[in-house]
Amino acid sequence: MDCIFCKIIAGEIPSFKVYEDENVLAFLDIAPVNPGHTLVVPKKHYENMEEILEAELCKLTVVIKKIGKAVKDSLGAEGYNITENNGPVAGQIVPHLHFHVIPRRQDDGLKLWPQEKYGEGEAEEIVKKIKNGI
Ligand code: AMP
Ligand code: ZN
Repeated sequence: MDCIFCKIIAGEIPSFKVYEDENVLAFLDIAPVNPGHTLVVPKKHYENMEEILEAELCKLTVVIKKIGKAVKDSLGAEGYNITENNGPVAGQIVPHLHFHVIPRRQDDGLKLWPQEKYGEGEAEEIVKKIKNGI
């Protein structure tokens, strides 16, 4: 399979690994939002959150938690963002599930997404739809 993260996991492409166990690999993002920006990936290839088995996701989440604390404490960050993009429309470029752990500082100049307000009755309609989709 022509997957860049599978190649990193197989050791065919170099990476700066920060953590590895039987199921999970964490390595530095090659183009960091902030220094220490780390990607946490399952070793098995799953394209996105819909594909990964729940048991595998649990193992991945345990590592994401560890990496978040480590980048904060060891790099002198004040907090961190954990993000995961699902699908090209959401900004997913690499189709191998990965979580971004991005250390944050008060003065790093990053702004998150702009937010809007719901119109009259709109939130109720959306809640109905989401509930039906679960
Ligand atoms: P996404 O847009 O969520 O799919 O994120 C993909 C991320 O993978 C981007 O932040 C890239 O900078 C990163 N990336 C792509 N190729 C490599 C690589 N060879 N080593 C480390 N990170 C990479
Ligand atoms: Zn892959």
